[in-house]
Amino acid sequence: MTYSPATIAVSAGRPPAEPNQGLNVPVTLTSTYVASDGGTRPGDLGYGRWTNPTWEAFEAALGALEGGRALLFGSGMAAIAASLALLPEGAPAVVLPRHAYNGTLALVQDLADRGRLQPRLVDVHDTGAVVEALPGAALLWIETPTNPMLEVADVPALVTAARAVGALVVADNTFATPLLQQPLADGVDVVVHSVTKYLAGHSDVVLGAAVTRDDALHARLHTHRTLHGAVPGPMEAYLALRGLRTLPLRIERSGANAAELARRLAGHPGVERVRYPGFGSIVSVEVAGGADAAEQVASGVRLWVHATSLGGVESSLERRRRHAGEPTTVPENLLRLSVGIEDVEDLWHDLSATLPTPR
Ligand SMILES: *Cc1c(COP(=O)(O)O)cnc(C)c1O
Repeated sequence: MTYSPATIAVSAGRPPAEPNQGLNVPVTLTSTYVASDGGTRPGDLGYGRWTNPTWEAFEAALGALEGGRALLFGSGMAAIAASLALLPEGAPAVVLPRHAYNGTLALVQDLADRGRLQPRLVDVHDTGAVVEALPGAALLWIETPTNPMLEVADVPALVTAARAVGALVVADNTFATPLLQQPLADGVDVVVHSVTKYLAGHSDVVLGAAVTRDDALHARLHTHRTLHGAVPGPMEAYLALRGLRTLPLRIERSGANAAELARRLAGHPGVERVRYPGFGSIVSVEVAGGADAAEQVASGVRLWVHATSLGGVESSLERRRRHAGEPTTVPENLLRLSVGIEDVEDLWHDLSATLPTPR
């Protein structure tokens, strides 16, 4: 019997159902584990930087949702760094979206500056352009939808093209979550997440994850996590698993809210352009009147939270270009809306009251 994602999110990663067992895995606060006699044995937990039962419970649940084996990291960037460390020696070419998450772009640029790789920036929704950039590349990095431009990639077509040139494929699945898109099923080698966002869902932890079906890649990612020390805290892992339990409900509600708001925003005279891929809970809008008008919306809202980050139960928004590291091809007047699970009429009332009303 294979369960549907709504069931997996609730049931995976629990202790065996035995009399007097707790339903939930506990927060295991320990730096080390009692050794088995005679040294380290296969299956021994060993030391707190190697693994932790609370991490493993989250990993079991996320792995079941993505259809692979998951590893929890101390942040999304730690998972991204571990995935980039899969690159072969030398300075191989890496094809990646021009509008990838700005932390990913900054890390790739830092590695490029130190001669570790050669970035080839592409518009990831332009399949022909990506295919053209692939020959000789060791890695194709996919992010779809992109943050904050919400461009959507044709994952199966890109995987086929990457396979043909022998490139590894990594996909950042933070925006869609495994409920809306399962890149491993399309042949992607490694999926990365900022667990900070939808998976944990309550804006109270910073965590990341990498998921793969390939045992050798899993082992290399695990070694990287152990040796670079990019490990999560057990309490954060517990909170993320607790959040993951309601992921299907949250995605359903925030997705419905986002669809309705995108529709209304498209008809508002204070909005020049709405970017909404037709799924998910992020909507980017270009506000009439430029950067200042967009900032006025951000500072004028009462219910929406003016803050960076996304994927929490609460709706938040920000003008992305306020960050110096944001690509200059992201419009100055673009507001990224992370739509939460509040009542949609309350959200619309608050937001529409702050939008400019040009004549
Ligand atoms: C936030 C984010 C990241 C980085 O994750 P952290 O948990 O902040 O390290 C990576 N990718 C995307 C798409 C993000 O939105």
